[in-house]
Amino acid sequence: MSRGAELLRHFEAQAGGAVDLLGRLVGIDSPTSDAAAVGRMGAAVAAELMAIGARVSFPGTGGGGAGVDAAGGMAGGVGRPLVAALGPGPGAGAGAAAAVAAPGRPDAATPPDDRPVMLLGHLDTVWPAGEAARRPFRVEGGFAHGPGVFDMKAGIVVALMVARAIAAGRVRPRRPVVLFLSADEETGSPASRPHLESEARRCRFVLGLEPCNTDGGAKTSRKGVGRVHLAVTGVAAHAGIDPARGVNAIEELAAQILAVKALEDADRGTTVHAGLVSGGVAKNVVAPAATAAIDVRVGTPEEWSRVEGSLRRLRPRHPGARLDVEAALTHPPMVRTSAIAALLGSARRAAAEVGFDLGEGGTGGGSDGSHCAALGIPVLDGLGVEGDGAHALAERVRVDHLAQRAAFLARLLEIEDPL
Ligand SMILES: [Zn+2]
Repeated sequence: MSRGAELLRHFEAQAGGAVDLLGRLVGIDSPTSDAAAVGRMGAAVAAELMAIGARVSFPGTGGGGAGVDAAGGMAGGVGRPLVAALGPGPGAGAGAAAAVAAPGRPDAATPPDDRPVMLLGHLDTVWPAGEAARRPFRVEGGFAHGPGVFDMKAGIVVALMVARAIAAGRVRPRRPVVLFLSADEETGSPASRPHLESEARRCRFVLGLEPCNTDGGAKTSRKGVGRVHLAVTGVAAHAGIDPARGVNAIEELAAQILAVKALEDADRGTTVHAGLVSGGVAKNVVAPAATAAIDVRVGTPEEWSRVEGSLRRLRPRHPGARLDVEAALTHPPMVRTSAIAALLGSARRAAAEVGFDLGEGGTGGGSDGSHCAALGIPVLDGLGVEGDGAHALAERVRVDHLAQRAAFLARLLEIEDPL
């Protein structure tokens, strides 16, 4: 029996329990803004991990970090991320052993590279408290439904299935494996990001368990996400009696929005979308203030530099208006590097060994993988279970593919390191 078939058989025997576990995790609401709820989700995952002897910590809790103390939030009122070491500790990985036992290699004198591989996901969902009771977990025709089932509790279940198999000696990863689950990914991970970055910096590469593309493929690029805020200050005046004394902030803002829109470049994948506007006080008053929030997506850091440079040069059209521009790249673009292509090659091989073709694609959405990629660490993302409807009521996941996806991930951790 091939190794792929062996792993598939192992995980198929675990599939029933995995569906039950998925149901339990979907039953725990974990909205980003609710630190206690995300803490309950973290504690549930930690309990699974500690039952198999994995070392679990919640960064920021202090005191050695061990235990299930997920309660209590971080700055911003969000929960704590979870970090777990799965399987052998650093220095004891199979990869390290292989590097040492390679006489005659040109780099034989260099220390063995036993940096871990990171499995990356998040504990939070976009759904409010009470959603799991309103739309309880259910399985129908091979699909599981429920809030957060696709984004990304099924991905967490796959990680836990693999963690259990590593602990039982059924899977032998080439490198130590670290699981990192952010607490606030759905709002861009402002609180988890420093912890994620410090873990990611010591990792060789990152495998993201976020939802896959709709065709089941991995995500090899992500657009950078920019947030642009325009604030115009005008002068209020009666619109009928002395309009000439006023400066209309809404008119000024409208012109500025079109100027920002002109920075769009479809050929380079740069999109500009004014998503929120507000302004004015009454219909018959020349508007004294108006603001706009604009979403910008870019494929490369160079494109963001171009857009940002143009934003800095915006000036009010009306001499009496004041224009304030804020621009921030909340998620850097994840560019498909040769290292990412090499990771994809290994992933395709692992997928073929467990019986499916792994596709590939990019996405306009940013995620934690973007933060890791920005540090120069290769990221292969979107390795979660097939499904669709992320952030939508129709969200669902191919629950009958849990075993195959777990076998795929396990095999990927085992096969020859592409980097
Ligand atoms: Zn997600």
